[in-house]
Amino acid sequence: MRNNVSKMILMKELKYRCKNCGTCCSEVPGTIEYPTYKRIPLYPNEADRLIEIAKKSNVSFKIIEDLVFPDEKNQKILVVTWRIRLDNNNKQCAFHIKNGCQVHDVKPLACRAYPLAIKQEDAFNFKISIDPLCKWVIENYDNLYNIDLEQIKKIFPREYIYAQEHLNRNKSIMLKLRELEKANKIKIFRKISNINFNKYLKQWERVEIRV
Ligand code: SF4
Ligand code: SF4
Repeated sequence: MRNNVSKMILMKELKYRCKNCGTCCSEVPGTIEYPTYKRIPLYPNEADRLIEIAKKSNVSFKIIEDLVFPDEKNQKILVVTWRIRLDNNNKQCAFHIKNGCQVHDVKPLACRAYPLAIKQEDAFNFKISIDPLCKWVIENYDNLYNIDLEQIKKIFPREYIYAQEHLNRNKSIMLKLRELEKANKIKIFRKISNINFNKYLKQWERVEIRV
């Protein structure tokens, strides 16, 4: 009983404070058996903006496709998001510097929302979740385990606003894809083998989905 009460008091007081460790801007070390990669997604307009800044400031910033859907009808790969490549020597986002983010004022929604992230539940649905790789989250894991959305809002008030924006943007894109399908302009595979998926990735042109 006493433990529950003290946990409730602690939860009331618990507020996220970034430790500026830079872990979220860095690759996750995996193993050969279980290769992992850190996913920092970018919407196409965010990718354009960061590429432009990188060009002007001579930063070796690179991106790779992230969330994509092969369009059977037009034989195109529809790109919903890109992700930041972290496979450079430092294994970090090229905009990460000693004092933090070099593009702090214009950083992408995923970085603003972090350690909140949006997690894919199935092909077209996403939800807000807490990323377990954040250093502050690891330190407070016992208190954050299984908390509901209302508690998430209280602990991460600023980040929650961006996570919600991130989620809404994602929903708008998914809606756009469904509308395009309804209008018979695209056809997204409901089931596809890995072999075919990889084959189409190699062969088909890219089209970005923007909202
Ligand atoms: S844009 Fe900034 S916050 Fe986002 S990964 Fe790069 S350095 Fe980190
Ligand atoms: S991992 Fe968490 S604590 Fe560390 S810089 Fe990123 S958000 Fe802040």
